[in-house]
Order: sequence, then structure tokens, then C-alpha cells
Amino acid sequence: METYITITLLTVVTLIFLLKHIKTTSWKKPTGNLSKNAKFILLNNIRFYYNLSSLNKKHFEYKVEEFLLNVNIIGVETIITETDRILIASSAIIPIFAFKNWKYRNLKEVIVYPSNFNMSFKTTGLLRDIKGLVGTGYMEGKMLLSKTALHHGFSNQTDKRNTALHEFIHLIDKADGIVDGIPKLLLEEPNQIPWLEYMYKQIGLIKTKQSDIHEYGATNEMEFFSVASEYFFERPKLLKKKHPKLYNKLKHIFKQDMINHWN
Ligand SMILES: [Zn+2]
Repeated sequence: METYITITLLTVVTLIFLLKHIKTTSWKKPTGNLSKNAKFILLNNIRFYYNLSSLNKKHFEYKVEEFLLNVNIIGVETIITETDRILIASSAIIPIFAFKNWKYRNLKEVIVYPSNFNMSFKTTGLLRDIKGLVGTGYMEGKMLLSKTALHHGFSNQTDKRNTALHEFIHLIDKADGIVDGIPKLLLEEPNQIPWLEYMYKQIGLIKTKQSDIHEYGATNEMEFFSVASEYFFERPKLLKKKHPKLYNKLKHIFKQDMINHWN
């Protein structure tokens, strides 16, 4: 009898634990009705969305709504507008658009600063050269973004740069537990070592000034992956022309042929 009670109690405790765990890790489901204003902002600011078929537009809207329902966007010394929210959500959705069930479970909050900030997260004083970062340690689950950089990423479409997209690529890379430039959840195991070797070679070319990929990409493999991905999503035609092998590798990783999006 005692054994029976113990087993029952253990089962109840396990069930409570599981339910609590599921509650904290599962994302809220969107209604599927993004507001008219949000759709208007998407059409006017997000070229990726603009070029999608109506069916894919619907899916993009669903993912944007889902993201905004589950990730808090907080402004520090700045008021967050609907456009800010849509730009951030779009940066999150563009790279994983082909992965229908992708959820950023490693992100709880996006903290937006009015402009660039320094390592102490201050927007005044010297050395304010950070446009965005993905938090680690006590900042785990947080992303920090400069509002100026966020908007610049979508208004300038020729510089191959997009800060928010760059940070979300780091989060995708991080989803397997390690930020190392190898997105193991997106890239099959046999292709991981060849990708790593390819990155080494490309970093070498940037360092010896034989590449038009931004020099920040030569910092390490994780930065190379983010910088090359910005190029892929911002200037796909140019990337395909100048680096056809890299274009194909990124096309394979993100399961998107970006040329079809941009005309
Ligand atoms: Zn970076």
C-alpha cells in the first residue's frame, strides 16, 4: 500500500514538473490575423515580404505575429513603435522562413537602444560602437539592438549589412548550443566539416584583402557566418556573381534560393 502511494505521489510530482516545463518552453499560438497596419508596414519596408506569393505572405504574417506574441520588445530611452516591432520580427523570420516550425526558444527579450551603445550598455560616452549583440551569461535569452542600426538595415539595400538579421543569424547558430559558425540544426552532419574548411579559406581571403566580404567577417567563424548571411539576404544577385560557391552553400543551409525573391 505504501509503495502504491509513493508511486502515485511520484507520478503526480513528475506530471506537475512536466506541465510546468512544457508551459515555459512552448510558444503561444497566434490568431492568424495580423493587423492591417502591420501588413502595410511589411509591404512598405520589407522587400523580402513584398516579393513573396500571397500564400507565402500569409505564412510570413503568421510567423511575425507568432514572434511578437512570444518575444518581448523593450525600449530603453526610446519608445518602441509598430514599425520597430515589425522590422525586428521580420529580421527574425527572413532567415528561417523555409523552416516552417522554427521557434526562437533561446530568445525571451529584444532590448532596443536609440543608437549605438558601449559594453556597459550606455548610449553616451566613449566607445559606442556596438549596434547589436546576443546576450550570454546573465544576459542569456536577450538580444540588444540599436534602433538606428535596425532601421538602417532595411533602408540601405546596397551595403550588404543588416544588424538585426546579423544578430538573428547568431541565434540560429546558437540554437545547437554552440556559436561557432556551424548551424547544426540547419546543416546536415556530413556537410559541417566541409563548411568549416570553406569558412577558414574565405576568412583567409578577407584577411589578405582578396574578398569583398566585409572585414568584420574575418573576426572568426561565427562572425563569418553572420556577415556572409547578411550578404546573402541583402545582395543575393551580387553574392551569386562574385561568390557562386558561397551562394550555393548558404542556399543549402537556409533552404532558400534568394534570387527568386529579388527581381
Ligand atoms: Zn556578430
